[in-house]
Amino acid sequence: MKIKHQLYFLDFKHPFGVSSNTRTQTPSVFLELECEGVVGYGEACLPAYLGETVGETQAFFEACKRLLEDCVFPMQIAEVMTRVDALSKRANAAKAAIDMALHDLVGKARQKSVAEMYGTAGSSPKRTSFTIGIDMEEVMVKKIQDARDFSILKIKAGTANDRALIEAVRRCTDKPLFVDVNQGWTDKHKALEMAHFMKDQHVLLLEQPMPVSMKQESAWLSARSPVPTFADESAKRLSDLDDLKGVFSGINIKLMKSAGILEAIKMVEWCGKNDMQVMLGCMAESSCATSAMAQLADLADYIDLDAPLLYKNDPFSGVSYLQGTVVVSGAPGIAANPRMNLFSDL
Ligand code: MG
Repeated sequence: MKIKHQLYFLDFKHPFGVSSNTRTQTPSVFLELECEGVVGYGEACLPAYLGETVGETQAFFEACKRLLEDCVFPMQIAEVMTRVDALSKRANAAKAAIDMALHDLVGKARQKSVAEMYGTAGSSPKRTSFTIGIDMEEVMVKKIQDARDFSILKIKAGTANDRALIEAVRRCTDKPLFVDVNQGWTDKHKALEMAHFMKDQHVLLLEQPMPVSMKQESAWLSARSPVPTFADESAKRLSDLDDLKGVFSGINIKLMKSAGILEAIKMVEWCGKNDMQVMLGCMAESSCATSAMAQLADLADYIDLDAPLLYKNDPFSGVSYLQGTVVVSGAPGIAANPRMNLFSDL
């Protein structure tokens, strides 16, 4: 098997603000695996808050080179990923890229989509939320108007002005909302007050209301909150989940955290056994990684897979959006392919 990787910067259509920062572009390292003329693609998306750098990701791909070069059809993805995983305790985004490229490769070789491989092909497209980043009120109003196709909006909150923010949103739409606090609330009593306010504002769920370090307070809040709470920053991999029983009502699973599709499915299974709801989410990733996750859409209670809509220069085609739903094509593998020769310089 041959391996190539390429750094690429995704440019946001609008500067993207969350409670901790605002950015205009975000790096991804794309991965191409080729075996007997079949090519599979993967993506490691590396927003700064993930704590994984471009250099570390490229170095991890190089460290995996020999292992991957030795792979031939028919390859066992789980076996390869166990060996990849053992090489580092970190590099989850890089591992996710390898996992999705292997799935793409195996799917294309078998002429089956990942959804068909795992029996997760949905009977009908699922609706996704559309994320509105923190911004000036007039800009947010414009973004909300632009999101007219979407029936659920996800609002990035977590500042001292959350009440005013939601009230501003409510002046221009009555659509149901997900509110992502990104760890922004640090007083459990105020957080509970805010949760009641959010309930009155037709907020369907609160994502990561309190910091990762405030586990006990998060459990206290979740036990009393009239709105379900979802772990995001607190729940990266399967091994994190046993510790979160009773701490949240659900888990936001993302490929860049779970180190890929295989473990994302195990996390969904864990949620099923432990009476936790499942959101399938994304980071600031292109159509490559989002298409991979969309293959699992049928496993989720909620879908938040809107990232490809946020860029001017998505180098992949894959998922499409129709009346607020995520549409996967049914093509083999992850059903995403580069629009350009991304790997030409190598
Ligand atoms: Mg989040």
